[in-house]
Amino acid sequence: PHRARTGRAVLALDEGTTGTRAGLVLEDGSAHEVRYRAIEVGHPDDLCVEQDPVEIWTATLDVAREAVALARRDGITVTAVALSTQRATAMLWDSATGLPLLPAVVWQDRRHATELAGLEARWDSVLTARQGRPVGSRSPFLWAARQLARHPEVAAAHRAGRLRFGTVDTWLMWHLTGGAVHATTPTNAASTGGYLLTAHAWDEEWIDALGFPLDLLPGLLADDAVSGETDPSVLGVRVPVAASMGDQHAALVALGGLATGQAMGMFGTGAFVDAATGTAPALPRPGIAGVVAQPGRRQGGTTHYSLEAYTSTVGSALRWLCEDLRLFDSPRELGEAAVRATARPDAGPRFLPAFAGVRTPLWRPGATAALTGLTLATTRDDLARAVLDGIAHSVCDLVDGVAGTLGAPLSRLRVGGGVSGSDPLMQTQADLTGLAVERVADSATASLRGTAYLAGVAQGLWTSLEEVVEAQPRGRTFEPALDTAGRAARRADWRALLDHHLDTPE
Ligand code: ADP
Repeated sequence: PHRARTGRAVLALDEGTTGTRAGLVLEDGSAHEVRYRAIEVGHPDDLCVEQDPVEIWTATLDVAREAVALARRDGITVTAVALSTQRATAMLWDSATGLPLLPAVVWQDRRHATELAGLEARWDSVLTARQGRPVGSRSPFLWAARQLARHPEVAAAHRAGRLRFGTVDTWLMWHLTGGAVHATTPTNAASTGGYLLTAHAWDEEWIDALGFPLDLLPGLLADDAVSGETDPSVLGVRVPVAASMGDQHAALVALGGLATGQAMGMFGTGAFVDAATGTAPALPRPGIAGVVAQPGRRQGGTTHYSLEAYTSTVGSALRWLCEDLRLFDSPRELGEAAVRATARPDAGPRFLPAFAGVRTPLWRPGATAALTGLTLATTRDDLARAVLDGIAHSVCDLVDGVAGTLGAPLSRLRVGGGVSGSDPLMQTQADLTGLAVERVADSATASLRGTAYLAGVAQGLWTSLEEVVEAQPRGRTFEPALDTAGRAARRADWRALLDHHLDTPE
């Protein structure tokens, strides 16, 4: 039914936390020839999480150039570039050299959690009312203010007018446009903890209170505003950058979450649950943030909002178990082991994947992960089962938190993201939530396709988001296979573990 015109495509770039992708999103809405590069995440200590901004840019440029070459090979015309990026990861760079002055601070970083906790009493309710989120456990603005004070070369670049601050979207946009655009978009800005949800402006009072110089703030553009053109010497083509979205919001578009109001779970480095709340922000609760889902300025001026809850270490936990500890060959092999487990769910080991704190249902940013209930009879398969159960219970807490804040139970959960590729995890997710879990087809490219759909509608490739989203092939649905009593027992058991492990506030 969609009115695709053959031969055109949006070049979509999806820079996630652990990897970056580029693909051509064709007029049928499918992602063609997606290329992927892994990106390192550094953990210099228990609290700090860092990345190399140059690696983020060059890996993204590599896959983008490959996609442009493939478009040429296949006779496809690239009409626009669309960006989807991990949110709230920030960097400082020198505009004269285009080089970062420091490693990027990643959204999982907690180095300033204690300092920020000291600001909660004065600011939590103020910020929740106007930003949809409390002070929280990280702030790219506080991080930047501290770097300015600590590093003379950063301060010197600032004095010389050469210092630039931005999140990943801003960094990539700046490079793609040859330094012409220094801006961000609401779905990205709302995750920094510095964005006024309904005024669509920076929360200058709060940002200033953190010691961040306001002259460093990137400009704000709508997510689907044409913000500039790609520099042909960078990408080989001159086309508009027609959309830039936070990855979670891009996924919400691809999964049809805006139109249906259906809740969505994205399973990547972290797991995020979002439910659209319409054109007004819902009143959030601790651990459940109100965010801008899609500003859509060019589509009638309506802003859509969603409620969001997240747990930051899901893919990270699997990566740690597989790559650092080498207990399993891969997340897939871990899933196969879990299916063979023989320990009873109420008697085997328990795993709490809180490697970087817990937010929902209890606010414990300083919490750490736990593995309990081990005996000498515990097998590797039982351990794998415990890992999947722990992830599914954590996501179940997010679903419960979002539903509780909405004041209505959810009817089903649409899911995407790399880790949603695990069938045993998705089945456990259905069992523990009691919800049908619908995994979209091509689940790993949801963010990539979502931002391309937004750009493509703005470019006239499709007449509406619904048109292209509805034309996508259906994925697979996992139906809950646990009765109400069984589910309640498993959830009560999990809650007891949480209460036991988290009873001492950090
Ligand atoms: P992000 O965008 O946060 O970087 P992705 O959505 O790309 O994350 O997902 C990457 C994660 O998905 C990695 O941690 C990877 O190990 C995991 N993953 C990929 N395939 C599977 C699978 N079949 N089962 C479980 N995890 C998987």
